[in-house]
Amino acid sequence: MDNGSLKFMRMPDGTIRITESALIDFLTDQGIDLGEVLSKAGYTEVTTTIETAESQPDPAATESPSPPAETQPPSVKPIDHEPVRQAEPPPRQSPAYESLPGPLETKPDQFADQNLRAAQICDAVLTDAAGRGAQTVHLDPHGGRLLLRLRIDGVLRNKPNFDRNLTSAMQREIVEHLLKLADTQIDPDKITIPIDSGFTMTINEREMALHLSAVPTADGIRLVIHMPSEPADLGLLELENSARANLEKLLQSGGLIVVASKRRTGRDSALQALLTASNMSGTSVLTIGPDCVADIDTISHLRLDPAAGLTYGAASGAIKRQDADTVVLTELRDPTTAWNAFEAAHDGALVIAGANVDSACDAITELRTMGIEPWPLGGTLKAVIEQASVSALCEQCRLRLDESSYEAVGCDQCGGTGWAGTTILTGIVFVDGRLAELIRAGASSAQVSCEIADSSPWSLANIAQNAVELGVTTRDQAAGLFL
Ligand SMILES: [Zn+2]
Repeated sequence: MDNGSLKFMRMPDGTIRITESALIDFLTDQGIDLGEVLSKAGYTEVTTTIETAESQPDPAATESPSPPAETQPPSVKPIDHEPVRQAEPPPRQSPAYESLPGPLETKPDQFADQNLRAAQICDAVLTDAAGRGAQTVHLDPHGGRLLLRLRIDGVLRNKPNFDRNLTSAMQREIVEHLLKLADTQIDPDKITIPIDSGFTMTINEREMALHLSAVPTADGIRLVIHMPSEPADLGLLELENSARANLEKLLQSGGLIVVASKRRTGRDSALQALLTASNMSGTSVLTIGPDCVADIDTISHLRLDPAAGLTYGAASGAIKRQDADTVVLTELRDPTTAWNAFEAAHDGALVIAGANVDSACDAITELRTMGIEPWPLGGTLKAVIEQASVSALCEQCRLRLDESSYEAVGCDQCGGTGWAGTTILTGIVFVDGRLAELIRAGASSAQVSCEIADSSPWSLANIAQNAVELGVTTRDQAAGLFL
């Protein structure tokens, strides 16, 4: 090995192969003891799936310090560094690295080779993120480092070795490349205001609509890339059968359906599930928001561009003129947007909209506050889906406290924490009968809240109560969700 470089071969199909000896030499040069790393990760019996053929590496891959980006293949598959498997039981990473906050992995980093140009590194990062089902990719400059983190299942997880061998020049190239991908031809040094821009990219043969947000910080440009949600259907909401059947009926007619959730990633998935379940055949569908809610050929997405004046309010003004049958709005952010969305629903369109609130009662209050009159609201609002994210108890070690609750304990499976990531609880409140009458009559929030508590069996409060009794989470975690 010379100076710690990692030799590899690029195969005709685009994959990269590394010999076992080259990998071990490289890790040794980096001061990493592979045995110790594996031991810390909980592996006792090791077999290897690394290519062990002692073929000579492709000289072009190791001698050219910096081939032009244009000559690189359009995408690079992440190097397969899954060398470790326990023989029995079936392969499973240590939960401490799988479902809890913390490092994504302790494996050698696939981006360590400086020969990989910025374009390839970005491609590999985004491909890796898509493969892991990440919701966002964070590139955060901090103290001369460029930290890479992925939000997966709502939890931000570190990729600790990402910048290990990246020079500051390479870090800058990565940021510049991502800005260029998003069609933002701005010198990172000249960015003084937040930038928002979308772009599409083919990842694993799927065309994905991504969204890039860039802000200047004291340490440099901080980038967050939003990945599109995985295709979702109503099963994602885990509604009780009759609640799901009611909702499916509503999705075949007009009116307003609101998703009340403060957790943006869960909300997008719910919006997508509702859109997929609505009757889109032969209809005109328009989605409005920073990201495309669903990758479906028959829908049109109006991507927001606040810098160019295309805000939620301006975009929602086009709903009527676009003669849309179904409209999805990521968020009812301001009175103009709320009014345009409400008017379309009142006129017969199916409008599915997100709201950054905690509950159905709060969503109704928010709509009233934004100027929607009580009488038409009571007739047009059909249902509110309520979502909240809670920490999930580890099923291996949770301890029953009494008839109706459990507590966290901690075991090897959960790294001693007692928790196994997060889960989203989903409830639904149908606006009909007495609840619709109360809204029409301009009832107070307290009256609406009482009515929901009395007559909505699938409200988030009830779903949360059930989750506590079943040991999905603890009473403390769900406390804020009870009415
Ligand atoms: Zn446990």
